[in-house]
Amino acid sequence: MNNYVYADNAATTRLDLDAYEAMRPYLLEEYGNPSQPYFFSKKAKFAVKNARKTIADCINAEPEQILFTSGGTESDNWVIKEFGLPTDLKTIVTTSIEHHAVLNACAFMQEARRATVKYLSVDKEGVIAEGDLEATLRHNGNPVASCASTLVSVMMANNEIGTIQNVKQLCQIAHKYGASFHTDAVQAVGHIPIDVRELGIDFLSASAHKFNGPKGIGFLFDSRRRLLSVFHSGGSQENGRRAGTENVAAIVGMAVALEKNCKAMSIQNGRLNKLEEDLLNGLKNSGLDFIRNGSENNHLPGNVSLSFRGSDGEMLLHRLDLMKIFVSTGSACDSINSQISHVLKAIDVPEEYARGTIRVSLGRDNTEDDVLNIVSALRRIITR
Ligand code: PLP
Repeated sequence: MNNYVYADNAATTRLDLDAYEAMRPYLLEEYGNPSQPYFFSKKAKFAVKNARKTIADCINAEPEQILFTSGGTESDNWVIKEFGLPTDLKTIVTTSIEHHAVLNACAFMQEARRATVKYLSVDKEGVIAEGDLEATLRHNGNPVASCASTLVSVMMANNEIGTIQNVKQLCQIAHKYGASFHTDAVQAVGHIPIDVRELGIDFLSASAHKFNGPKGIGFLFDSRRRLLSVFHSGGSQENGRRAGTENVAAIVGMAVALEKNCKAMSIQNGRLNKLEEDLLNGLKNSGLDFIRNGSENNHLPGNVSLSFRGSDGEMLLHRLDLMKIFVSTGSACDSINSQISHVLKAIDVPEEYARGTIRVSLGRDNTEDDVLNIVSALRRIITR
């Protein structure tokens, strides 16, 4: 039993034990370079091949459509920076609530590469209006053919408030205007069902440490296989598109973790929804004045953004920290920044609430006792 409560699973997750066991041999015994032709490297080479197939199966893709990367940030940067050259003709349509891996890559493209970047706004639940995307693309390119150098990048699920977008519909609109569609699915992969073929998307970013895989490894789904330009020049790894010796153990661990999470997803999500309900009921019954941010009906199970009226998110985080309860003030990357996050601003959370925001992200290791501890700690801190 832990003597702490870790409730920051949207920031990172504990490595799955089976994933760890599967990784071990490729660090200690089967450490051959998968590019080498001799017998000693064969197991490593097959392990990478099998992992690619396992990962592809989990999202209904083809193995050739999966490119290994160092994680979500790299996958996002690859698509946004390298898609559709020449860059000065390029338009990127994204949203005001993306992770900084997307937002800052877009800002770079605008400043350094003269790309045009347009930001879609969201409603109070953090949902993008499909009509806004349509209107933006219609203005952007008429006739339709001129949208060919347009990339639409909309996250599948938001890291701060958990809202899930209607990616299928948005993708259909993008394609209607000849644009390509990328989704940052870093918070979604391994947590909600994803079928890339059914969704019709062109690119998808994922990161293993968000679904109980190891850190520093992720993947990019590229439906058309050759659309993206070369990211790292060098050897022939990843079909010559991202050179560099593969991190075999991490790739293997990622595949095991993803497969396991996908298999257990519906049971796990039922459990997380129940814990989430207990958390919200516990806080309500404590008489605390708070808002739960994001979409009530369409959000990531276990991702609960809470804004307490007249409180201070930083103070809550530190007081909980002293009680060995670990949550975040919003985005992990923003937690050193005490400003109201761009996501809370975008969904228009009233300032007296927004300043008192924390994100509790429950994961598969959390228990009913954890939830009781969080509720009782918040009650003590806020009502004292
Ligand atoms: N995109 C989203 C939505 C995220 O939540 C994160 C991490 O928090 C990233 C991208 C970056 O992923 P990574 O940590 O693998 O670089």
